[in-house]
Amino acid sequence: MDNFQYCTLQKPAKELKSSALANSRKKRSLVHYDKLWPSRHTLKIAFMDNPTPEHKDKIIAAAEKWLPYISLKFEFVEGVEGEIRIATEGVVNSSFLGTDALDMFPDTPTMNLGIDPEHEDFETVVIHEFGHALGAMHEHQHPKAQIPWNKENVYNYYQNRPMNPLSRGEVDDNIFTPFDDADALYLPYDRKSIMHHPVPNNLTLGNWANPINREISDKDKQLMRLIYPR
Ligand SMILES: [Zn+2]
Repeated sequence: MDNFQYCTLQKPAKELKSSALANSRKKRSLVHYDKLWPSRHTLKIAFMDNPTPEHKDKIIAAAEKWLPYISLKFEFVEGVEGEIRIATEGVVNSSFLGTDALDMFPDTPTMNLGIDPEHEDFETVVIHEFGHALGAMHEHQHPKAQIPWNKENVYNYYQNRPMNPLSRGEVDDNIFTPFDDADALYLPYDRKSIMHHPVPNNLTLGNWANPINREISDKDKQLMRLIYPR
């Protein structure tokens, strides 16, 4: 589990600014409708750098695991034509949430897949990042999750890891802060969701841990069918 490459959900600059001013946060409807792609949309996905054909194929195969549960189609295109633009050369795994990707300049990536294609969690991480790109949030931040975090251990763990360390603020944003009921459509909390980070016991109080979820869960499927009906 120590080897797992946790991800960060990226936010557009304007949203970072507005969440810093909590009171001025714009009200949203029950679903992040403004972050979902239109139903039956053909999502254009591009590679920004030049992964090998085998590397590309592995990413595509993992991303396409979502297709049975959504009405979107994926079209893999070149360079700036992508609505989702993948960079593979860094060490970070991250994505923007749904159509937040459209707010970015066309020469910047909207998803980073730094994970080595030979890593045992490669497929899991790619599916997880595409879950974000489709609009799914982190399950461990579900308002009903109530994970008994040992917060100081969590801050220390993320600040001190060699790859992709997170500041305290980034830990708050990506691990602790539950998403608002009013911000999102959500189904009951699901510890098996592929959008749930694994939680080692030493990051919680008492005896609470969650393994790596490597499969799209029944609830993940249900959510995708709900937000992208055929
Ligand atoms: Zn994530």
